[in-house]
Amino acid sequence: MAKTPKYVYFFGKGKAEGTAEMKGLLGGKGANLAEMTNIGLPVPPGFTISTELCTYFYKHGKTYPKSLTKDVETALAKVEKAMGAKFGDAKNPLLVSVRSGARASMPGMMDTVLNLGLNNVTLEGLIKKTNNERFVYDSYRRFVQMYGDVVLGLKPVHKDDIDPFEAIIEQKKKEREVHFDTELTADDLKDLVVRFKHAVKEHTGSDFPEDPMDQLWGAIGAVFGSWMNDRAIAYRELYDIPASWGTAVNVQTMVFGNMGEDSGTGVGFTRDPATGENIFYGEYLMNAQGEDVVAGIRTPLPISRMAEQNARIYAHLEKIRKTLEQHYHEMMDIEFTIQQGTLYMLQCRVGKRTAFAEIKIAVDMAQDKLISDEEALLRIQPDQLNQLLRPIFDLKEKEAAVKSGRLLAKGLNAGPGAATGRVVFNAHDAEAWAKRGEHVILTRIETSPEDIRGMSAAEGILTARGGMTSHAALVARQMGKVCVAGCDALDIDYNSHTMRVSGKEIKEGDWISVDGSTGEVISGKVNTRPSEVLQVLVDKTLDPKDAPVYQEFEKIMKWADKYRRLKIRTNADQPDQAANAVAFGAQGIGLCRTEHMFFGEGKIGPMREMILADAVEERKAALARLLPLQRKDFEGIFEAMNGRPVTIRTIDPPLHEFLPHEEAAQRELAQQMGITYEKVKQRVDSLHEFNPMLGFRGCRLGVVYPEITEMQSRAIFEAAAEVKKRGIPVEPEVMIPLVGNVIELQNQEQIVRSVAEEVMKEQGVKFPYLVGTMIEIPRGAITADEIARVAEFFSFGTNDLTQTTLGVSRDDAGRFLIPYVEKDIYAKDPFEVIDRTGVGALMKIAVEKGRSVRPGLKLGICGEHGGDPSSIEFCHMIGLNYVSCSPFRVPIARLAAARAALTHDGAAGKRAGSKHAKRSSKKKTARKR
Ligand code: PEP
Ligand code: MG
Repeated sequence: MAKTPKYVYFFGKGKAEGTAEMKGLLGGKGANLAEMTNIGLPVPPGFTISTELCTYFYKHGKTYPKSLTKDVETALAKVEKAMGAKFGDAKNPLLVSVRSGARASMPGMMDTVLNLGLNNVTLEGLIKKTNNERFVYDSYRRFVQMYGDVVLGLKPVHKDDIDPFEAIIEQKKKEREVHFDTELTADDLKDLVVRFKHAVKEHTGSDFPEDPMDQLWGAIGAVFGSWMNDRAIAYRELYDIPASWGTAVNVQTMVFGNMGEDSGTGVGFTRDPATGENIFYGEYLMNAQGEDVVAGIRTPLPISRMAEQNARIYAHLEKIRKTLEQHYHEMMDIEFTIQQGTLYMLQCRVGKRTAFAEIKIAVDMAQDKLISDEEALLRIQPDQLNQLLRPIFDLKEKEAAVKSGRLLAKGLNAGPGAATGRVVFNAHDAEAWAKRGEHVILTRIETSPEDIRGMSAAEGILTARGGMTSHAALVARQMGKVCVAGCDALDIDYNSHTMRVSGKEIKEGDWISVDGSTGEVISGKVNTRPSEVLQVLVDKTLDPKDAPVYQEFEKIMKWADKYRRLKIRTNADQPDQAANAVAFGAQGIGLCRTEHMFFGEGKIGPMREMILADAVEERKAALARLLPLQRKDFEGIFEAMNGRPVTIRTIDPPLHEFLPHEEAAQRELAQQMGITYEKVKQRVDSLHEFNPMLGFRGCRLGVVYPEITEMQSRAIFEAAAEVKKRGIPVEPEVMIPLVGNVIELQNQEQIVRSVAEEVMKEQGVKFPYLVGTMIEIPRGAITADEIARVAEFFSFGTNDLTQTTLGVSRDDAGRFLIPYVEKDIYAKDPFEVIDRTGVGALMKIAVEKGRSVRPGLKLGICGEHGGDPSSIEFCHMIGLNYVSCSPFRVPIARLAAARAALTHDGAAGKRAGSKHAKRSSKKKTARKR
């Protein structure tokens, strides 16, 4: 007979059956409770029922294996022994909490029951033991309410409906003419319990369970059941958490933070989760239970106040903070309770943090040798760097707004960054407005798990209640959203969709601005400015010494460069773009789309004349006018790149893209050129193609009109000669697009090389240059061995290669690609992330075949995928030499390349890097053409 798996894991008294490694089985909470127990931290004893049981539960019609009853009883007996108390005992009763705990944190999504084990008998024992009747009745009424809501299903389904227990409390307070729960006496609470139980009977038809064992099984079932509630399902969808993981259930001895003024409860982070600063960061409430802090009902005190109020406990917490960081090598998020002067740890997990904090913590920990620099790099997701490049408010504008009285209020700086948008008061509106392109600030009294989609759609989140660890704050940080929380000056009225603040009325749709770094809320729009990193690197308006965020960023970049093997180039076709990319660390240009230049000042006229020319001579005349303009562009680029390689692609798009299609514009062009409108129209019409992307474009233009390639080559090489003469080294690489047949390439290569020789002779200078091709149609990839006999380099044009491999038009795919991704036909949009199985296979063929005939063949990528971390990883894996992406993504690519090397090469990755081109910054993404 197969052995029954172990489902129940005990922890307590310095020894646990689990460890932190067992997250899959015990869930995050259970694994860390075990780990904390093992490292000697004060954890109340308990046991974890594994996620495997959750799987069993759902596989077997919500039933348990036979062995479970005995296993739970055995574990419970161990807890009783550890505590010297007994579950259900009249004199010395043990009370427990029952909580969920999945492998990934799902804050507030599943159910919890506290104070379990209380009934009319144990109640008396506890009163005797604590000598505090009010406390015991308060615990009891909380238990009946929670159990009633969670296990017995009294909690209203709709948010707007009233919880029956809350209604009873309100009624009681009215009768007693008091405002706060704390003003209710022991007798009042006793009466509440009676009324609560009555409500339970009324709603369910049964009495409230008195037997603690019945209570326990009810709670265990409810927690496993909550894995499939709507909120949990929505959350899992949003964060890609598989339903198959299941949740564990943790049953743990209750400790009470509401036993008087020497008791309390709190949450904390071992470092500041917003800024990453190495300070103990947290908040606490004396004489309160954990739910009071998390729910944001009372505003807690900063942990620094505890140092004054209770130095002994504070010192203990500080010690635990250090122990945890030394043990986990991570910034941890903790929950603790103080029961009558004794500190207990209830939870620890790796703390959620902003990208700012992630980078600072990684850098600081690496510098303090808590982690290695490799580990630091692997902790930062490349796309997180985006947040460092996010805008902040224009300081002057903000100051002016504040001076003119537009500062409405200040809340907690829960999620840094600057956001400006229109006020909406519920998550549904946030989603709907964002869908139609509005920028919105989701403004709520407090947020709850149901609001996550709206939060995700909003630019910023603003709440009236709750602390730094409230739902709004936690989720905003996780999403990387700007968030101001706990701004209690806001008086929000959901019904009228308005709020009053500082004597002003703000209506739905009004503009406000929120500063998630300072907590300020300002009425109206405030313009934003580039981030610190951009100010240092691009605008050069900020001294790095005064830019701590930049300093962290720079360190990460330096480490990344030490490990990466891929070089990072950029796609740029203007000198300012090139300069910005160099500032961001680009080591060359991987794609200069010359056609973009033709839209620049003074160029479109001669370009159109060239296209409309009837005869070669006419075309040559127009090209002669274009030559000096192109040459000047290239000079600027060579100068900006200062000796770094520059790949310049000959003209690629279909010619009709340069011509006007409206009658008025065609008439204007006819007039400019001194020809008839009819001629212009006829020529434009004659260039019409049914399928231009597969039509007269790419190298086909140069093959049919060799004079175009000749002019472009001349412009490139004359510019190179000129810049070289000025003492600046140059390394041009001429790239022929859309080659599918080696003879096309040979044809173009001959033109390029003969012009190069001519120019060098004419100018009396020599410079190195390469001729290569794009691999962007399948035939090119498949015949790469033939092509590599001519090409000195390949650059994968994965935009077109994806289009031609999949037979999916890159310009028309939107309509069906989204449903395709939703239906998992493609895991990700293949125009964003390389389709490794299809397009990737062709790339591999091209790499192997190309290098088989030319071992030193230089290989790169210049499609949009060159800036996507997953695609960069793939490029590393198949042995490309470089990736090329838009200037703004260069830092992301540097980090992604380092992570790829560290992940796939192990020690080999470390040898890479070392000598690197100088680097430093800018933006602008050129998407598609
Ligand atoms: C490509 O096809 O991937 C490419 C870089 O060229 P373009 O986007 O200009 O067609
Ligand atoms: Mg292309």
